[in-house]
Amino acid sequence: MADFVVTNWFGDLVSHAQAVAEANSAADVVNVLKNPAQYPSPVRAVGANHSTTPCAVVNGGTILKMSGMNKILDISNNTVTAEAGALYIDVAQALEKQKLQFYVNTEIGNLSVGSAACCGTKDSSMPGEFGQVGSYVSRIKMALPSGDFLVVTDDQPELMQQVRSSYGTFGIVCEATFRVRPIQPMAVRHQTFTLDEFIQKLPSLKAGSESIMFYVFPFDNLITVEFRKYDPSASGDPNRVIWPLRNYLWATAGPAVCANAEKDLADKTVRYGVIDGFNKLWRWKLENLIQSGNTIATDQIIRYPPTGGVSRYTFSLWAFPAATYPAVLRACFQFCQQYYQQNGYRVNMLFVGYSVAKDQSSLLSYSYDGDMMTIDPVSTGNPGWDQFLAAYNQFSSGQGGVPLFNQTNGITPAMAQKALGGRLKTFAAARQAYDPEGRLLNDYFRNILGN
Ligand SMILES: Cc1cc2nc3c(=O)[nH]c(=O)nc-3n(C[C@H](O)[C@H](O)[C@H](O)COP(=O)(O)OP(=O)(O)OC[C@H]3O[C@@H](n4cnc5c(N)ncnc54)[C@H](O)[C@@H]3O)c2cc1C
Repeated sequence: MADFVVTNWFGDLVSHAQAVAEANSAADVVNVLKNPAQYPSPVRAVGANHSTTPCAVVNGGTILKMSGMNKILDISNNTVTAEAGALYIDVAQALEKQKLQFYVNTEIGNLSVGSAACCGTKDSSMPGEFGQVGSYVSRIKMALPSGDFLVVTDDQPELMQQVRSSYGTFGIVCEATFRVRPIQPMAVRHQTFTLDEFIQKLPSLKAGSESIMFYVFPFDNLITVEFRKYDPSASGDPNRVIWPLRNYLWATAGPAVCANAEKDLADKTVRYGVIDGFNKLWRWKLENLIQSGNTIATDQIIRYPPTGGVSRYTFSLWAFPAATYPAVLRACFQFCQQYYQQNGYRVNMLFVGYSVAKDQSSLLSYSYDGDMMTIDPVSTGNPGWDQFLAAYNQFSSGQGGVPLFNQTNGITPAMAQKALGGRLKTFAAARQAYDPEGRLLNDYFRNILGN
């Protein structure tokens, strides 16, 4: 039996596929779906393979690479339509040439259009807006296991809600249309708070007129808040330097420094002294350099290299109700500090957190029931990370957290059930109508959906 090895971007999740297919057209996708003898089940599409869970992993099935389907098909009427393998950053840059931008400008640019349309994403909501990319998707064209195409639009709200969180288990997304809008100047600034100050001020921070995102330092008891808002009155040339500086330090220098400290410094006091020192520098840079009244939101989007390399990092994510976030964050700091004392392991980068508005655009939305805030540990994947995540998942599920199937690694079916309850059952029943034979179900989703 053929054994094609395919790994995710970080390199920790491995598929052993019997077949690997590369789609260059929607007809190629249909051909794969209709030929199980040549392309055995399960068939999992892969965009940029940046997911941090086994959502795209097959053992013995077919990996369908979508990166060849990368055309931008249309930009008109404040919408953009692109093929599923197109990267978010490429689409964003094409929009920028027409003075347009996405509503949600995730830091990850390698996000493929197909994944963006049917999987979980996060960015802090701008005031009055959503923080999930798929919520601005207004049309999805999918190839179903039957070989038929299904086009879903905002005119079918219930189906659209299901498809926006279908994770490739209804059909393979071939193209998607996003609502976009004219570029507006965006202001950004940062301020650092102690944990106590942050908890005290959070209600007013949240009620303010800016989006809030968090850089979280559990071993320093500090949180640096990123504030952003659109300011149409800003004049002059936008600052095109500070986001690239943030991006370089966040995505290139930061992970490399932490990975090297991990590798080179056996003494943990010295190692974490170096890492905490780097974090201090990071906070200083955010507070003093990454601020401007006039930037371009698109500049936040990062093009990661095709493979992880020396700057690779990984993370996990749980979202918590905004109302309980202060208590959960305090408990999380205690949990991390205790875990280090008891197990000698600590997360070797910082944590981040996003404030994401209530959003029922997708059935499995993590902010379906109300505003949510996330706590995302970030790591170079040092030894002990997997065990830490298992404990962190228990902690987070116990605190009422909600996971994302493509970004929260190691969740159990019971955790998924606890967080999503009846919506998960509705979802599992709905998807069977489109994929009665389980052609698209890998072990991961079979397990979570209880099929
Ligand atoms: C360094 C790094 C930074 C990140 N930063 C962010 C961030 O800021 N915000 C954020 O939201 N996420 C972030 N992520 C997570 C990432 O955006 C998501 O995991 C996303 O799903 C990755 O997109 P992808 O195209 O690589 O999807 P893949 O990993 O290729 O696939 C994700 C899932 O979608 C399915 N799929 C892929 N293509 C299709 C298709 N055409 N049709 C149907 N199903 C499909 C796959 O089978 C899989 O189940 C980050 C990840 C990394 C590694």
